Amino acid sequence: GYRVQFNSAIGPYKGGLRFHAAVKLDTLKFLGFEQTFKNALTTLPMGGGKGGSDFSPRGKSDAEIMRFCQAFMSELYKYIGPDCDVPAGDVGVGGREIGYLFGQYKKLTSQFHGATLTGKGFEFGGSILRPEATGFGALYFVEHMLKTRNIDIKGKTVAISGFGNVAWGAAKKATQLGAKVVTISGPDGYIYDPNGLDDEKIEYMLDLRNSGNDVCAPYADKFPGSTFYAGKKPWEAEDEIYMTCAIQNELNGEDAKKILARKPICVVEVSNMGCTAEAVEAFVEAKQLFDPGKAVNAGGVGVSGLEMAQNSERLVWTAEEVDTQLHKMMKTIHKESADAAAEYGLGYDLVAGANIAGFKKVAEAMMEQGCF
Ligand code: GLU
Repeated sequence: GYRVQFNSAIGPYKGGLRFHAAVKLDTLKFLGFEQTFKNALTTLPMGGGKGGSDFSPRGKSDAEIMRFCQAFMSELYKYIGPDCDVPAGDVGVGGREIGYLFGQYKKLTSQFHGATLTGKGFEFGGSILRPEATGFGALYFVEHMLKTRNIDIKGKTVAISGFGNVAWGAAKKATQLGAKVVTISGPDGYIYDPNGLDDEKIEYMLDLRNSGNDVCAPYADKFPGSTFYAGKKPWEAEDEIYMTCAIQNELNGEDAKKILARKPICVVEVSNMGCTAEAVEAFVEAKQLFDPGKAVNAGGVGVSGLEMAQNSERLVWTAEEVDTQLHKMMKTIHKESADAAAEYGLGYDLVAGANIAGFKKVAEAMMEQGCF
């Protein structure tokens, strides 16, 4: 297990824990690096960190997951705290895992330090809308991008990858906004559902995840009319909006070429570094409407920041209050990224803009604190 504390110039280290068989120290270093700039973009005072383990929750019982979380926290508790480092969930770590981790932290410290972990259950200090926040925030960001082209998302077809927490939130909000989500995917392949996802299908994504098998194929058996494509990625489907919602490097240069040939409305990197460097380059070069994950998925950690604020003031905000703040945050992230790119003569390049805006804030804070 690892915890990478990357930068605390603007606030306590903050970032998720990932439990996935492919996790290595360098995975967590790039995620911690990205997290530093993403957290700066949220407008909230949070530094950057990331952690996790190559423990795979796939096929494990609830009791095994609990014991792993307890063992992980038995080592981690010395290094975290509300003003020091605040972990949260990420791939393979959701509300269940955060609950077990928090229980063990409380046992070891004899303190109820709510703001030590975010993504907690609502009953013990979790923020309402935290589970939805990454996906909802992504769609709010997309709305701002589309506004620059006078396009409404209503009626557009959307290809989403993954079936985890981020894909679930994105599918839910896209559908609420009147778009038609036609794909989800897993390590086993992807589902194409020409009828689009509805509430029942979106909630079924939770069953798929809770099965612990990490496959999406059973969707096709449950919902007639949909098809499962084994070993394939949703990027081969003909759609208007593409959203990576699974894991790093899930969309490569070849995928980008195929997507660009279809002249889509926009490509949205929601997963952390979901697009390879070649894919990002291809999108930027083609002036494709495209955004980087660190801007578009920042609503997740943004609402984690709001959870910390609620815990510190010992209050519980309503869904309306959290949603209003999330809307504001995504609008600001879009504007600051677009403005930074324009200021450096780069046009509407959100990839460069988000990097510049996030970097400037962190670098200025470091210099003001005497670290050159
Ligand atoms: N894992 C999420 C991310 O990549 C959330 C982190 C957090 O809430 O601290 O931003």
